[in-house]
Amino acid sequence: MPLASITSQSLSPVAATGSFAEFISREWEVIVVGAGPAGSLAARQLALAGAKVLLIDRNHFPRRKVCGCCLNAVGLQVLEEVGLKHLADRPSLPTTQQMYLATRSHRATLSLIPQGKVISREELDTTLVREAIAAGVDFFPGRQARLEPAMSSTSEAPFREVWFRGETQPLRAKLILAADGLGGSLLKPLENQEPPVSTLEVAVPSRLGVGGMAESVPEFYQPDTIYMAYGDAGYLGLVRLADGRLDMAAAMNAEAVKQQKGWGNALASILGEVSFPLPDDWETIPWQGTPKLTCSRERLFAERVLVLGDAAGYVEPFTGEGMSWAMLSAYAIVPFALQAMHQGTEFAGPAWDRQYQEIIGKRMRACRWIRTLGQYPFLARRAIQLGAWFPSWTEPVMRLLHQSPKPLFEMRRASKDL
Ligand SMILES: Cc1cc2nc3c(=O)[nH]c(=O)nc-3n(C[C@H](O)[C@H](O)[C@H](O)COP(=O)(O)OP(=O)(O)OC[C@H]3O[C@@H](n4cnc5c(N)ncnc54)[C@H](O)[C@@H]3O)c2cc1C
Repeated sequence: MPLASITSQSLSPVAATGSFAEFISREWEVIVVGAGPAGSLAARQLALAGAKVLLIDRNHFPRRKVCGCCLNAVGLQVLEEVGLKHLADRPSLPTTQQMYLATRSHRATLSLIPQGKVISREELDTTLVREAIAAGVDFFPGRQARLEPAMSSTSEAPFREVWFRGETQPLRAKLILAADGLGGSLLKPLENQEPPVSTLEVAVPSRLGVGGMAESVPEFYQPDTIYMAYGDAGYLGLVRLADGRLDMAAAMNAEAVKQQKGWGNALASILGEVSFPLPDDWETIPWQGTPKLTCSRERLFAERVLVLGDAAGYVEPFTGEGMSWAMLSAYAIVPFALQAMHQGTEFAGPAWDRQYQEIIGKRMRACRWIRTLGQYPFLARRAIQLGAWFPSWTEPVMRLLHQSPKPLFEMRRASKDL
């Protein structure tokens, strides 16, 4: 079948827009750390609102990221609202029409309504960085940033510093957005150091993430379908990208991975359990792991710092929503970031916390419920069996997960009109 789109090879690298020496000589209003969907979109929206923004990432782009690459309807709506619908809503990109769920003993095919799109993270993240630069954001890739605890004082300092290994001077900004993703270390030095505390709590038990990309793909895996293999060691999602590659992303029990002596063996055992074929190039796939997946942060702010995207918390990827949460939080944070930039985080911080809980918290709670079910293979198998018999029982859950953020968009538009 003709599958053609942008491949990782055809995406050209995104260069820095300046040097460290140039960046240090400027006073930034916002420094965004992390150029995933949360960081790049927030940086772009802030630049469009008139802020001087620097976007930093420890990686160079395009870069790979462990992800199921399925962008759901909520993510598509956010992109449409900010005028970037064309990035993901193109006929050349596969659509998520159905999910084919398999356990050792059962199969279920669920229609996915509303549908989403399948897009590689090399492509989505790189194009979002380019859109940010086009909106006036400066970009500084290949540098790992770190924060230091703030000096204790009764009032907030006017700037916050961002440090880099090997540099003797920091960059300074009125506000730092921490969008450094799952397992990001930016906020670690602040945890338990300064009030308000911003600690990342990891749920127990929590699975690990792993991902890889196959180029030699069996005919079995058709486009427009998310294949989900549920085994004793965890679950693995497989989806065809526009260029024909097979993206694989899994949540695995750490103990099972240890017992199977590595990612490749543990994932192959899941595929074997559900009788899905292995790609021919299996032995040569470079697997990429993640830290523990389910975590939450008590508070999403520190002095002149606001937190968004996965850095604010994450739940296992069974329902494939993280990119949408990341982009929704990027859209939602803009007025709070603008207020924090001018007045500090004393008021904007707690207000952002409340807003985040309202727009993302309830979606996450639904995912936590599904995750808890997934911790017990017997229950999960029964749920899939029920899905096979009565596909409609999953509809209320799907509705909750895909609840439209339109009320938030309307509220924002109304407040701009005032
Ligand atoms: C197995 C798995 C499957 C998934 N499947 C899906 C799916 O199908 N659909 C979906 O919507 N979501 C899925 N997700 C979730 C999704 O990948 C994330 O939720 C999403 O990437 C979050 O975006 P983000 O911008 O917050 O963080 P990220 O995309 O992780 O970006 C963070 C960025 O910060 C940079 N960074 C980190 N620390 C520093 C530092 N100190 N200095 C500078 N830069 C730094 C990193 O290099 C990275 O580029 C999946 C996740 C996993 C683990």
